[in-house]
Amino acid sequence: MSASVEHPGHHGPPTFGRAGVVGAGIAGLAAAIALRRAGWDVEVFERSQFKNEIGAAITVTPNAAMVLRRWGFDMEKAMAMLNQSMILRLAADPSVILDQQEYPDGDGVLKYGVWSFHRVDLHRGLRDLATATANSVVSGTPVQIRLGCKIEGIDCEAGVLHVSDSRTIHKDLLVLADGAHSDLISKFTGHPCEARRNNKSIYRWLVPMDVVLAEADMGQFYHRERSGFVGWLDPDTQALLVTYTCRGGKVLNIALVHDTQPGRAKEKEWHSQVSTKEVLATATNFHPSLKKIVSMPTEDGINVHHVVTRSPLSSFVRGRTVVVGDAAHVMMPSHAAGAGIAIESAASLEVLFRRVNGKDDPTVRHRLGLFDKLRVPRCNLTLLVSNSHMGRLQEPGVVDEIRKFYRGPLPTPGALPYSKPWMDVLFNHDEFWAAEELLTEEGVKAEDQTA
Ligand SMILES: Cc1cc2nc3c(=O)[nH]c(=O)nc-3n(C[C@H](O)[C@H](O)[C@H](O)COP(=O)(O)OP(=O)(O)OC[C@H]3O[C@@H](n4cnc5c(N)ncnc54)[C@H](O)[C@@H]3O)c2cc1C
Repeated sequence: MSASVEHPGHHGPPTFGRAGVVGAGIAGLAAAIALRRAGWDVEVFERSQFKNEIGAAITVTPNAAMVLRRWGFDMEKAMAMLNQSMILRLAADPSVILDQQEYPDGDGVLKYGVWSFHRVDLHRGLRDLATATANSVVSGTPVQIRLGCKIEGIDCEAGVLHVSDSRTIHKDLLVLADGAHSDLISKFTGHPCEARRNNKSIYRWLVPMDVVLAEADMGQFYHRERSGFVGWLDPDTQALLVTYTCRGGKVLNIALVHDTQPGRAKEKEWHSQVSTKEVLATATNFHPSLKKIVSMPTEDGINVHHVVTRSPLSSFVRGRTVVVGDAAHVMMPSHAAGAGIAIESAASLEVLFRRVNGKDDPTVRHRLGLFDKLRVPRCNLTLLVSNSHMGRLQEPGVVDEIRKFYRGPLPTPGALPYSKPWMDVLFNHDEFWAAEELLTEEGVKAEDQTA
């Protein structure tokens, strides 16, 4: 069960098995790092050339920050910002505070921190961990990333990928991480499984922080002792403007969540540039001081992102294939959880596939079954709560749907995203520990669980 395998033409350290990962987004790269650390030989197939890495910023919550920390991810190099507070004001009158929280330092649920990154910096940091030659931080064989390599077909049972250049590639394990707009997910499930638009869209843009601070009306909201999330809500339209800094505090990330504008409801593109006029039309009730942020110089224009969703999957496994990230569970960003939960899933793969011989079919399948046992409840809980109204549980049917997958504790229905009760459920989670516990329950000896 734990014998390593030498591959012909392979000159690195002996590996236990060979994995193919489809997609080099956050989910694919995290899975690749995890399997590399588990002693596997990993090849990632990415259809793009990384020329247009996704812009804007992203928050990584403590449950995922813990995994990055364990991997030796360099937060300083990635210029990650620690969020220490949250304040939500009324959009029409920002002197009215709707909600406010300080995130305590030190031990407890927030021990590993709530971090914000420019997406490009997070992505680059993950690529570095995946591809670096083995050193004191990262062990195992460097991951090979094949750019411009589109996967057109997949045989999930047999572990076979069909590349656009007509090559056929066999692996011991496949990881499907081709994102929200996955072409391959319907081959995985065996039925049409397209992501559907819901009625929400998000305007996203990045502004240099010095420009924001120079504009007194807007800058006043950022003179705070503890950096963090600064937001404004229009209760009439439910438009929510959320901001936080990234890139060492030099860049402000802005997201305006709103009901999709009628003219864009049938748009095929899920991501496109928009005019400031359109954004202002969504923010008509906002105080004039806030509207100034729409006209400031941006890093890459203002983009509209139409939110998509897919029904929860009852299994993330088929044959020798596991599906992770947005391909498995695309969700609203209300709990800032999509990427974090994918990083957690990678931690699971790392523990479950350590010292597993990829040629040992029953063990590979058994470990994939354990992955399902761990990840279906947790990922579908996060998906369903993120997609509920404002990330709360009071919508009819939401709790019943969650209970089909997840039996653990839930906060009271009205709890807001990022409130203490949700932090306890979503952030207070150690996936390494959960997977190790499950292996122990399954009778796998501790020495066989170690890399
Ligand atoms: C507005 C917004 C804000 C968000 N904020 C947060 C947040 O703060 N925190 C958080 O945790 N999450 C957040 N999320 C969710 C998060 O962005 C996603 O969950 C995460 O980026 C998904 O990563 P992925 O790797 O699954 O998919 P993707 O990033 O879409 O990567 C998929 C990759 O697969 C490649 N690919 C596709 N098809 C093929 C193919 N056939 N062959 C080869 N390659 C292929 C694509 O080119 C792409 O590189 C947010 C999402 C949105 C929309």
